[in-house]
Amino acid sequence: MYNLDLDGKTKKYIEFKLHKKYKKNNPALKIVFKDNINYNLKVLKKIKKLLENGVTFNTGKINFVLENYNDDIINAFKTFGIDNIEKKYSFVYDVVCDYLDNLWVSKNPCKFCNNKCIATRNNHLYLKEDGCCYSFEWTKNILKPIKNKKKCKYLGDNKRCQVKNISCLLFTCEYLTKSGTFNIEYNDLLLLRLFFNRKQKLILRYNYFQKKEAIISKLLENNNTPFIIYLLKYEFTI
Ligand code: SF4
Ligand code: SF4
Repeated sequence: MYNLDLDGKTKKYIEFKLHKKYKKNNPALKIVFKDNINYNLKVLKKIKKLLENGVTFNTGKINFVLENYNDDIINAFKTFGIDNIEKKYSFVYDVVCDYLDNLWVSKNPCKFCNNKCIATRNNHLYLKEDGCCYSFEWTKNILKPIKNKKKCKYLGDNKRCQVKNISCLLFTCEYLTKSGTFNIEYNDLLLLRLFFNRKQKLILRYNYFQKKEAIISKLLENNNTPFIIYLLKYEFTI
C-alpha cells in the first residue's frame, strides 16, 4: 500500500514531470492532476510503469503528495498497492461496478412504469417487460451473432439484478443514446482504461449475464491471438 498526502503537509518532495527520468530511489513525489482525463491517464500510466520497474518514492512515511485529485485517482493508487493480479482486477471491477450501479440508480434513465421501461413504452423494443434483462448466447457467427434469447435468470423477484455484471452496467440501449437522455462512455472510466488492455476491454464490454468470478477468470487469461482475429472469432466471450 502506498501512503498518500492529500493535504499538502509534506515539505520534502520532488515535483512530477511527465517526460522526466527518475532514479531508483527518490523523495516523495508531488503530482498535480488536471481536470483532464487523458492527461491524468498519461500520468498514472507513467507512475504504474515506474512502480512496476521498482522505482521508489519515499519521505518518511509518505510516497506521493497529490493535488487536484478525485476518487478515481485515489482508487488508482490503492490498486497500485495490491500485489496479487486477481485481487487487483477484483478491486477495480468492484469499484467500477459500484460507481455504475449508483449512476443508474441516481439518474434512473429507464423510468420503469408497470414494469415497462421507457424504451418499451415508446415502442423502441419488442420486449414487453423487464427492459433489456433478456439473456442470450453468442453464436460466434457474424451473420447471426446471438441465439436463445430469454428472461435473464439473474433478474430477482424484486426486479433488481442479483449479480455484479459490468457488461450490463456498461450497456445503454439505442433509445437512451439516440434520445440523448443517457449514455455511458467507456473512455470516461479512468480505472478501466488504466488497468485493462483492448482485448480485456472487449471482455468487460461483451460478457453480459455472467457472474463476476467468470469475468475475472477471463480477464486473467493469457491470449496470444492477434487482436483482429481475437475480435472476429469472438474469443473475448466466455
Ligand atoms: S437500457 Fe433501455 S431497454 Fe434497457 S431497461 Fe433501460 S430503457 Fe429499457
Ligand atoms: S445479469 Fe444483466 S440482464 Fe441479467 S439481471 Fe443482471 S443486469 Fe439484467
